[in-house]
Amino acid sequence: MSHPVVRRPARRVLVGGVPVGGGAPVVVQSMTNTDTADVAASVAQTYDLWRAGSELVRLTVNTLEAAAAVPLIRAKLDAMGCQVPLIGDFHFNGHKLLTQVPECAQALAKLRINPGNVGRGAKRDDQFATLIEIACRYDKPVRIGVNWGSLDQELLARMMDDNSRRAEPHAAEDVMRHALIASALESAARAEELGLGADKIILSCKLSGVQDLVRVYRDLAARCDYALHLGLTEAGMGSKGIVASTAALAILLQEGIGDTIRVSLTPEPGESRTKEVQVGQEILQTMGLRSFTPLVTACPGCGRTTSTFFQELAQRIQNWLRNQMPVWRGLYPGVEDMSVAVMGCVVNGPGESKHANVGISLPGSNETPVAPVYEDGVKTVTLKGEHIAEEFQAIVEAYVQRTYGGGA
Ligand code: SF4
Repeated sequence: MSHPVVRRPARRVLVGGVPVGGGAPVVVQSMTNTDTADVAASVAQTYDLWRAGSELVRLTVNTLEAAAAVPLIRAKLDAMGCQVPLIGDFHFNGHKLLTQVPECAQALAKLRINPGNVGRGAKRDDQFATLIEIACRYDKPVRIGVNWGSLDQELLARMMDDNSRRAEPHAAEDVMRHALIASALESAARAEELGLGADKIILSCKLSGVQDLVRVYRDLAARCDYALHLGLTEAGMGSKGIVASTAALAILLQEGIGDTIRVSLTPEPGESRTKEVQVGQEILQTMGLRSFTPLVTACPGCGRTTSTFFQELAQRIQNWLRNQMPVWRGLYPGVEDMSVAVMGCVVNGPGESKHANVGISLPGSNETPVAPVYEDGVKTVTLKGEHIAEEFQAIVEAYVQRTYGGGA
């Protein structure tokens, strides 16, 4: 797909078999919220995230039980035909866990370490070195993931002191942003000194404010050529989390910044964890950066629509398309680029439907109760009666088989 975004040059890092950076497509990743020590629950959720399209999945590794569970989770996923690379998220005790359970390091495709949570004082350097030595020993890439909620306090204090001695000190929030970047870059430089290749390092500097995140990543991107993991931390629930993540990520992605993304949504009660994968994919797809699932264009509805039928049809078709994708991906290459329009009346319905691969214009109030269907801009059939939804779905399915089936 052609698009106007020029990606920032970054070193390519291989995470399992998945390339990140170096011109590779922006990778969507996610994180489980199960207790990693609960192997069955973690396998089930990782599998769901992968089925939804997560190309990398991160699990927290916070206890010996969790570390011991990681190779079991890996083995069970492999047995299910799910090769999604697993990332271990380590804080405070990662050096101990990986030393005591080397099988955990072996089973992981990447280690995430947080320089603010590696240790304090004199122990910090040793513990950081241990983590990097383990990564080198098992040939694993590392994400050095700085988070403003757990910023290295010693570094921040040092930078605040330096700042206070300036003739014209910077504002405290500017120092904090500089400290985030310094923490990432200094840790990466230290990791390289310890023998980790630059092509094994991914950086992130997460904050929860959109404008702060944009400023930090612009600065970070200009100051290094490491691959960058992009995400707004603690984005929140529901539409707020989605909007804040989209606002922040879209600005940076449009500037070519970001090699892998995670949308950190707090699931609403009962909501699937896979929502964050869907949102990440939709950010990339609506920006024209990647295609994952055929998307439905639907009008918002207005006083010309007297029933909710067209909303239900739009939702039904979108859900159905998304559910088909795990199978369609293999059977129908290119189907992810297909567009489907579901429109509420004759005002914009036929026009929008003609622009889509397959479109339907439903009857608005006081219109003749018929629904013309367009395929590649040409009206092919007019539906009416009780079974418009089923018939339209069958038309879309036949279009997919005919157009993307490749004669198979
Ligand atoms: S297409 Fe028709 S129903 Fe939909 S928003 Fe426009 S005027 Fe309203």
